[in-house]
Amino acid sequence: MSEVSGNKLGDHPRALLARVPAVERVLSTAMAQRLIDEYGHTQVVDAIRAATDTLRRELLAGVPFDASFSFEAKLVDDAQHMLDTRARPHLRSVFNLTGTVLHTNLGRALLPDEAVRAVVEALTRPMNLEFDLATGGRGDRDDLIDELICELTGAEAATVVNNNAAAVLLTLSALASKKEVVVSRGELVEIGGAFRIPDIMSRAGAKLREIGTTNRTHLKDYEEAINARTALLMKVHCSNYAIGGFTKSVSVDDVAQLAHARGLPMAVDLGSGTLVDLAQYGLPGEPTVRATVDAGADLVTFSGDKLLGGPQAGLIVGRAELIRKIKKHPLKRALRVGKLTLAALEPVLQLYRAPELLRERLTTLRLLTRPASDMQAQSERLKDVLQCALGPAYAVTAEPMASQIGSGALPVDRLPSYGLVVRNAHGKRGGRALMKLEEALRALPRPVIGRIADDALCLDLRCLGAADEADFAAQCAELNL
Ligand SMILES: *Cc1c(COP(=O)(O)O)cnc(C)c1O
Repeated sequence: MSEVSGNKLGDHPRALLARVPAVERVLSTAMAQRLIDEYGHTQVVDAIRAATDTLRRELLAGVPFDASFSFEAKLVDDAQHMLDTRARPHLRSVFNLTGTVLHTNLGRALLPDEAVRAVVEALTRPMNLEFDLATGGRGDRDDLIDELICELTGAEAATVVNNNAAAVLLTLSALASKKEVVVSRGELVEIGGAFRIPDIMSRAGAKLREIGTTNRTHLKDYEEAINARTALLMKVHCSNYAIGGFTKSVSVDDVAQLAHARGLPMAVDLGSGTLVDLAQYGLPGEPTVRATVDAGADLVTFSGDKLLGGPQAGLIVGRAELIRKIKKHPLKRALRVGKLTLAALEPVLQLYRAPELLRERLTTLRLLTRPASDMQAQSERLKDVLQCALGPAYAVTAEPMASQIGSGALPVDRLPSYGLVVRNAHGKRGGRALMKLEEALRALPRPVIGRIADDALCLDLRCLGAADEADFAAQCAELNL
């Protein structure tokens, strides 16, 4: 048996076993009492018992014990670590330095303060969610915001469901069950996370009638596909891809005109859908919901948490009789939104009444329109902080880069940005070292999410707010490489 060093008592670990205190004795210490105040008796007893078991096993196995601690202090410390780890939420805030503003995996749109306050209020106070304050009778949760949605989109009627996937599913279920829906082959989109137009179509009990080819679809293709079983002509926004080269697609106007001439409704899944012309803020153009309604679409579906900048939701707007039919479908009840969504959505929509102030007030738009010079100044401020934390094995530079809007809006457009680029120092190719760094950044208390490209780790600072900058800088010191 080997002699144990660093053990002032000079005993072999096994000899210490007999001195491990009983759980009751550990619990009676002031340290344990503080833990009980925070976590409650039951959890603390369990944790100390587990810590005691572990300690006994370690001593039996000959693991040395640092006797500069008392057994009690060690056991309470281990229990605290266990309880703290277990209490840490699994859903945590991160730094989104990916350069993708509406990042689906990082929760998409960040909400403005007005929405945050409204959600807090809805969480802590009773609300007139389905209560008509004018009559004292039962109300409809849709009535709370449908007028506002109509005002902003020019539509006759509106309803809101859980997300845009639900909006499409519900629309097809209500209007096209056991019937055919005509869609161009160029628009059979798959959004990440298993949303595919053909699959949604069959789930809704509708038959997909594909027309045209991947790159070219003509009005004649729509005309020839219409028959007695046709329920709907549909167009889908090519959210996350672009078809270039020898292409042809038919405009919403033309498809809507054809549909109406044949007595059919026309629907558009707009995907992101924006309520204002983004060109006025210097961003690439996207069709607005209003323009799509004006072009003759009878129904338009779009997301609440993409370019709109609100909470996760699916908005359906269009002709009153069709919206009525949709709202009566049993799936509507299953797909409806909760009060938190409605609480957050209304103030966000309100912001759109003042388009000239939107850029300041709507967080998503503020991030999308941040000038590269802002991020450049931030990069210069943070460059040395990060370099200092990383040490000489890495080289940090401030460089221009390109951000993406994300979430299937403007898939090919890029926004000029600025950020920190980390490479292996001494010009070595950085594969492993960069992976290690990327991992260490993810392991921070507030994980930092960047992206690796061309043997460099890029941290795009577009989404690093002023308040977050100090947190980011402070956290760099905790990097464990
Ligand atoms: C994003 C998107 C969807 C899905 O919207 P969610 O709100 O994520 O459910 C559906 N269709 C298109 C065209 C989209 O871009």
